[in-house]
Amino acid sequence: MIELKSGPEIEAMARSGSIIGRLFGELEARVVPGVSTLDLDHFAEEFIRSHDGATPVFKGLYGFPGSLCTSLNDEVVHGIPSADRILGEGDILSIDVGVRLNGWCGDSARTFAVGEISEEATRLLEVTEEALQRAVEAAVPGRHTGDIGHAVEEVVDGTGFEIIRDLVGHGVGRKVHEEPQVPNTGRPGEGTLLREGMVLAIEPMIAVGTWRIKTLSDRWTMSTMDGSLSAHFEHTVALTGEGPRVLTATGGSIAEAARAHS
Ligand code: MG
Ligand code: MG
Repeated sequence: MIELKSGPEIEAMARSGSIIGRLFGELEARVVPGVSTLDLDHFAEEFIRSHDGATPVFKGLYGFPGSLCTSLNDEVVHGIPSADRILGEGDILSIDVGVRLNGWCGDSARTFAVGEISEEATRLLEVTEEALQRAVEAAVPGRHTGDIGHAVEEVVDGTGFEIIRDLVGHGVGRKVHEEPQVPNTGRPGEGTLLREGMVLAIEPMIAVGTWRIKTLSDRWTMSTMDGSLSAHFEHTVALTGEGPRVLTATGGSIAEAARAHS
């Protein structure tokens, strides 16, 4: 069942989401060469818990050990923070985090450049972030989840990059993973009807090479089958009568762009 959220419930989710937005702002200066992914995880957990009883949703979810998912280079999602994973110049690091505040969740991800990165990696980050932006703009009541996936496809088509097809976005609310599924591919007018009051995690994952993925021996980390770089940008977005509202924005640029388009 898809749960629609009331105005006050969306405001409560915006408070949860804003903690993530601010966390990403703080992480910007901390994702640098020499730092371990466990250092980042510790910082994030402390930052989250310093906000009025907020908690990191992923910690313990299905048994996951971290507050962050930290996925390096060819890793797509669900990387486990570790003292042994030290960031190096030229790496890209995808950080995915969920926060619960007063019972309401937010879910967001972003791929960071560690120092100077290659032209190809830069392009990958740009394309993936652009895909998220277009997908957010398509999240309008009366359209369908297929419009969101189609928006991602339109950005990625012609770049030579591939959309990770086996992982999808989802509804968000009291639980971090709710219905409906939000695929990153699709056709306009197909899929689930989008309604006012839905809150969706929209999260394109894009690889330089193949879209095919594998699970590593730690049973969590998913990486590209061919070892090519992968990026992931995600926002929690409320579908309102005034258009899509990004609840996890750091600077608000995507939110403003989405409003301007709606
Ligand atoms: Mg996420
Ligand atoms: Mg998600």
